Amino acid sequence: MRLDDRTAVVTGGASGIGAATCRVLAARGADVVVADLDEGRGAELVDEIERERDGAASFVETDVSDEDAVAAMIEHAETAFDRVDVLVNNAAVASREADGPITDFADDAYEFLTGVNLRGPMYACKHAIPAMRDTGDGTGVVVNNASIAALVAEPEMDIYTATKGALVSLTRSIAVEYAPEIRANTVCPGVVETPMLEAAMESGDAGEDSDAPDTLERMIAETPLGMADPADVAHVVAFLASSDAAAITGATIPVDGGYTAR
Ligand code: NAD
Repeated sequence: MRLDDRTAVVTGGASGIGAATCRVLAARGADVVVADLDEGRGAELVDEIERERDGAASFVETDVSDEDAVAAMIEHAETAFDRVDVLVNNAAVASREADGPITDFADDAYEFLTGVNLRGPMYACKHAIPAMRDTGDGTGVVVNNASIAALVAEPEMDIYTATKGALVSLTRSIAVEYAPEIRANTVCPGVVETPMLEAAMESGDAGEDSDAPDTLERMIAETPLGMADPADVAHVVAFLASSDAAAITGATIPVDGGYTAR
């Protein structure tokens, strides 16, 4: 399960599940590129990884909805660490305020949410897969972070839900198109304690009339194993990134504490 001599690019790597993923991958020996909008938190994480983990780390400021920035992110990885082996498409945005039921559909919310959650992973695969093939090893890995929203209804977040469902479908296509050189899998987290979740639980962010806190409380109560820690998801991502998962591709793996088993 070691990842020595592997380079991983993690989008949205400065916070929550992405930061936990960077920590776990680096603990197993991978060199990690932390790609995020948030330079302050990204730089702090790089310092921490360099001090405490086996692998090296480097930050690159990236807006995944901008193709030029994504191309520069992959070039940064190749310059810093000579290669790209693993891409973790983790960056995403959720907004109960901008999003909503389909009868409230708005173009600007669609552009924002699909730009980050779907075009971002598409751009990243477009630029990372050729870089993985350039290594000549035939062992590239894509791990896409979707959500249980791709598997079961999450009412009143219809754009977010659609982007996550599309990510699952995209992953299957990539798995078939680029086998055997590239494996591609999706993880679907349930309720995970991260800044994204905390923001959604604050009624100010979700709007005064929002039922978001109630919804989240209900989801936590209906999760047999309770709320997950970001590291719980990161360990599954690290497994998928490793040769222990050599026979797994095109899979959709809930990491949801049993939420979708009910
Ligand atoms: P988070 O908000 O803690 O972290 C997301 C990171 O993405 C932040 O550092 C943010 O700066 C970055 N980001 C946002 N827009 C970006 C952009 N355009 N370009 C680059 N980086 C950008 O969120 P999290 O809860 O850790 O979520 C990580 C992933 O897990 C997301 O794909 C999310 O949809 C998924 N997920 C989370 C939960 C949960 O309960 N927290 C549940 C299901 C799925």
